[in-house]
Amino acid sequence: GNGGFSKASYVVATDTTFAPFEFTDDSGKFVGIDVDILAACAEKEGFKYDLQSLGFDAAVAALESGQADAVIAGMSITDERKKKYDFSDAYYDSYVCMAVKDGSSVAGYDDLGGKTVAAKTGTQGASCAEDLSSKYGFTLTYFDDSSIMYQDVLTGNSVACFEDYPVMSYGIQQGNGLKIVTEEKENYSTPYGFAVMKGQNQDLLEAFDKGLKELKSSGDYEKIVNKYLA
Ligand code: GLN
Repeated sequence: GNGGFSKASYVVATDTTFAPFEFTDDSGKFVGIDVDILAACAEKEGFKYDLQSLGFDAAVAALESGQADAVIAGMSITDERKKKYDFSDAYYDSYVCMAVKDGSSVAGYDDLGGKTVAAKTGTQGASCAEDLSSKYGFTLTYFDDSSIMYQDVLTGNSVACFEDYPVMSYGIQQGNGLKIVTEEKENYSTPYGFAVMKGQNQDLLEAFDKGLKELKSSGDYEKIVNKYLA
């Protein structure tokens, strides 16, 4: 049994490379803010789970097809998504930014005309890029994985990419070779939440929320965040 939960173990899908939320550390262990929050909630509330790092778009597809029970992947809580999924309470505030190769002369959207810009399939960054592409006359190229998207900018195939600010700023501190040139705080500010399909796996969602509240009041939430973002 699984402590009164409806499933013996839940499949939770996540992204592959989305540091500091989910990534592989130097010893090959899968770590990050999302990974630690989920582990702490499971331990507190007594549910078992299997975390599968599939990539963002694949994680959402797995949720929709029933191959996964939940997603935790720095997933933005948006009104559009709330029609299909139930989200936990927000656990981290984020917004979209655009980054270029460090040293690039591209300083903003006006410099993107006729150029190729990289986005990550199914993300808020991609929605933002799609909103801007016809106005500024750039072409989009899509990637499933943030690190491969950055590579496309570093090699010069794309002149810029759209990414979540906390992820890009962490990556820059780690020396990814990129630089942030625009921030979309107005239209693309969205907090992260843990998601299940609407009306499904409500016991898991409630347990996550209960665990998250406890982590916040005990100070453990802050410890987890500071472990990665001190
Ligand atoms: N926060 C973004 C979204 O939900 C990106 C998530 C991700 O790339 N893992 O669309």
